[in-house]
Amino acid sequence: MAILILLAKLKNSCESLSGMSGAPSPYSPGSTLNLGSKHLSGTRLSSESDVKTVVENWLNGQDYKLESFGEKRESAPRFTGYYGQSIDGPENGPSPDPWDVQVGVPTKFIDHKITTEIPHTALVKTCSTCDGDKEVDCSSCYGRGSSSCSSCSGSGRDSENDSCSSCGGSGSERCWRCSGDGKVECSTCNGNGKVKWYRLLIVTWKNHVDHFVSNKENLPKDLIPEASGREIFNQQGDQVDAMSTAPDRIVNQASAVLIGKHNSSFGNEMIIAQRHCLRAVPFTKATYIWRDKKGEFYVYGFDRKVYFEDYPQQCCCCVCC
Ligand SMILES: [Zn+2]
Ligand SMILES: [Zn+2]
Ligand SMILES: [Zn+2]
Repeated sequence: MAILILLAKLKNSCESLSGMSGAPSPYSPGSTLNLGSKHLSGTRLSSESDVKTVVENWLNGQDYKLESFGEKRESAPRFTGYYGQSIDGPENGPSPDPWDVQVGVPTKFIDHKITTEIPHTALVKTCSTCDGDKEVDCSSCYGRGSSSCSSCSGSGRDSENDSCSSCGGSGSERCWRCSGDGKVECSTCNGNGKVKWYRLLIVTWKNHVDHFVSNKENLPKDLIPEASGREIFNQQGDQVDAMSTAPDRIVNQASAVLIGKHNSSFGNEMIIAQRHCLRAVPFTKATYIWRDKKGEFYVYGFDRKVYFEDYPQQCCCCVCC
């Protein structure tokens, strides 16, 4: 209840200020303030008479965002079971360089990964696991076909020293895995005795994102990229040049630094697309005096979130602090 009084004061002040400054107010009169900020949750001020607020001025935080969409190509040997499928081997020609393999480009600026067989790299070889036998020793019974009886632990006797009823006194039981054969199908070649080796192309697209936030006030910079604002610049290309038209000169300098960093930091990737944009996020700084203590808070973004660096009353009981 009482926090609404404080914010209502701010809102009233904002409305009068917006008329005086000539700048359009980002806060439409009569709409509900967003009190979803964690900084306000569960707290309130004690009474209207305790609070005095002054809206100092309208400000803009500037959020510059650079995205570089990189593509990386790697290859690695792989095998699969050979069951008579067609093979694209060296007899069809030399294998292409990984960067020359044709692959589709996914939606730009979204991480993605694909794998595909590199042409003319396939070979059929005898399976090295089973030496072409198609089966291997059972790992449960080590090829014996039987294992120690689980009821009598191999003794052949039960607790009364009578013959074990599970194994008939033999102390062993047939292996459940190989049904007593001692052999199981080779999992490397899936029982075919041969495998197909080839080189796999692994293509990874990664979107690298960096922000530079220009804000000379105490509103934490990490809040600004998450707040709603207005886009005032947007450019996209294979590669972009540093921004030169930002209202704040330091943003232009940051743009050049970040683009230089992106163009030299991803050595094993090729940048195939780049874009950058600049958003202005409006915010209002207000100071208040509450119980003779001075503080400040901010209302920021078009969705009007509220940030207190140090909320004046931490307890919701109202009388203990
Ligand atoms: Zn095998
Ligand atoms: Zn077995
Ligand atoms: Zn037994």
